Amino acid sequence: MRYISTRGGINPIPFKDAVMMGLASDGGLLLPQSYPLVTREQLESWRGLSYPELAFEVISRFVDDIPAVDLKKLIEHSYASFSHPEVTPVVKRDGIYILELFHGVTLAFKDVALQFLGNLFEYILAERNQKLNIIGATSGDTGSAAIHGVRGKKGISIFILHPHGKTSAVQALQMTSVTDANVHNIAVRGTFDDCQDMVKELFGDLEFKEKYSLGAVNSINWARVLAQVVYYFYAWLRVTDETAAPVNFSVPTGNFGDIFAGYVAKKMGLPVDKLLLATNENNILTRFINKSDYSLSGVVSTVSPSMDIQIASNFERYLFHLFAENPERVKEAFAELKERGRVSCSSGEMAQVRNDFCSASVNQEATLQEIREFYAETGYLLDPHTAVGVRAALELLPPDSSRICLATAHPAKFSETVERSLGFQVPVPDSVKELYGKPTRCEIMDADIAKVREFFVAHVG
Ligand SMILES: *Cc1c(COP(=O)(O)O)cnc(C)c1O
Repeated sequence: MRYISTRGGINPIPFKDAVMMGLASDGGLLLPQSYPLVTREQLESWRGLSYPELAFEVISRFVDDIPAVDLKKLIEHSYASFSHPEVTPVVKRDGIYILELFHGVTLAFKDVALQFLGNLFEYILAERNQKLNIIGATSGDTGSAAIHGVRGKKGISIFILHPHGKTSAVQALQMTSVTDANVHNIAVRGTFDDCQDMVKELFGDLEFKEKYSLGAVNSINWARVLAQVVYYFYAWLRVTDETAAPVNFSVPTGNFGDIFAGYVAKKMGLPVDKLLLATNENNILTRFINKSDYSLSGVVSTVSPSMDIQIASNFERYLFHLFAENPERVKEAFAELKERGRVSCSSGEMAQVRNDFCSASVNQEATLQEIREFYAETGYLLDPHTAVGVRAALELLPPDSSRICLATAHPAKFSETVERSLGFQVPVPDSVKELYGKPTRCEIMDADIAKVREFFVAHVG
């Protein structure tokens, strides 16, 4: 299996190089040259597999440059850190299936991909005798999952910038309580955008990037998408039997990484009817799907902060397929976006989009209401991101179909919002209680690129 860029500017590369490259060197995103097909017969034969066994079956179809024994070990090691024996269990409440993706160390679905990516990085770096310095900006979830994915790993240092005092308390502690020598937290007196801008500036300095082997962990890495494809298969196998009709998935969406993984699963032959793309008030993707309007507007802060995104970076991967794998058309679209703040599609293309996805946008009031109503009816606590997906599913998906809602975070991770909706305190898992007693380490600094650079150089591995 070789990987190519959505912008057409690189020669096909093997999996391990794709993992290390992250963003394609021509500015595009990496994708496999083709998608391996899984027959119905194969699918049926997977029913008895554990999560790591299934993960090996799915992932190994995209990886031909890591020996099977090693890949198996990497996968087993990645999912051993999950607190639930099923890794991503499915529960049923009131005719809705909830795919619980929050049993990893930081209680959000990003652990599923970042535990695997951390182990992959370590494996490839050891083999190549290389080092990697990861730098990233986070509003909360990605940073904590990335830190836990690489803590204590050989050959890797990680520097994560977060806006001081602007993440949730749990998110901040999940980052700053990791005191391994290779982990560096920087709390910036400023906003998430200040953090992001400084990280972009460091990556833009190519000499600096080269000298210090800078790497990123944002959701543009193909290995992250790949790890997420697995749980679509896992959920399908849990909710269907041999006679089963296709199922529908509802996905709370920000950067389009998670739902793109569902699209890949469908391309591999998984019987999926609808992929429902659920957004909050930051609804450019919903406007695109429902009204052919892909035009930029400002980002607003909501109670589902991990979905407060305007430009969904993984959307480029889908556009590449929508535009019949023509990189020229992708480049045109991004040029149009840059010049005119919008992308236009033909009516044929829009018909394809509506065949692939349906979409709904759920505002904050409806989100809080859904947390309350779902709890009243089922006794089940939804985090605000999951509530967006559940609300959208209730609005758009036929009640007599198998509706699977991806639960992307544990309610305790966003307890302030859940409690605001319900009016009482939600139970806190032990892993969260323990955070409060732990020693922390964090460097607080002004939003000053020179200071950040100085800190990095002084602490680089
Ligand atoms: C990151 C995140 C999302 C959005 O996922 P994308 O892959 O960026 O679309 C949704 N919910 C939670 C809790 C997240 O952390």
